[in-house]
Amino acid sequence: MLVEEHLDHVRNQVLECRRCNLWKTRTNPVFGEGSETADIMFIGEAPGFSEDKQGRPFVGRAGKILDELLSSINLRREDVYIANILKCRPPNNRNPETAEIQACTEYLDRQIELISPKVLVPLGSFAGQYLFERYGFEAEKISLVHGKVFQKNTLYGMITIVPMYHPAVATYNPSKKSVLLDDFKVLQDIVTK
Ligand code: URA
Ligand code: SF4
Repeated sequence: MLVEEHLDHVRNQVLECRRCNLWKTRTNPVFGEGSETADIMFIGEAPGFSEDKQGRPFVGRAGKILDELLSSINLRREDVYIANILKCRPPNNRNPETAEIQACTEYLDRQIELISPKVLVPLGSFAGQYLFERYGFEAEKISLVHGKVFQKNTLYGMITIVPMYHPAVATYNPSKKSVLLDDFKVLQDIVTK
């Protein structure tokens, strides 16, 4: 089977998923989207209001900032893949719960496996924590590791992780926007090497 067919299969599982309680309050699950051959995969936290309405990742205010960050290094959304830790919106955008992350990340793991990007970019502390644990790195605060490059040899080859602040922080703290822009330059250096 082609990657696309496998991904469709996982998408269909997500569309009818009831593995945690978030299915009860979601409008649409947000599977993720982008290039199935992407070298870079961005991983956010969970759908917010607009994403839940549209069923697409990063289409609200945080998404506008992500679009700006992407274009600052000449990338388009179609060049990358964008997914989230949780596929359904937590009520009032509350933090994801541990049990929800445990229930849902099987889907993200499949996406990573199928797309097998070279670079994973967790956006925000929940995605950062999850990927650090998954790849066997010591837990660290996002304020200490953002924009740094972590590498691990896996069965599928070398994987690079570049944690970043969540783009939403730039909507209430403008100084974080320039930090994000700098961290995106790090990403650009990696992918053009
Ligand atoms: N915030 C996220 O973490 N993910 C989205 O898809 C939108 C906002
Ligand atoms: Fe299923 Fe994930 Fe949605 Fe929970 S958040 S219902 S585990 S798809």
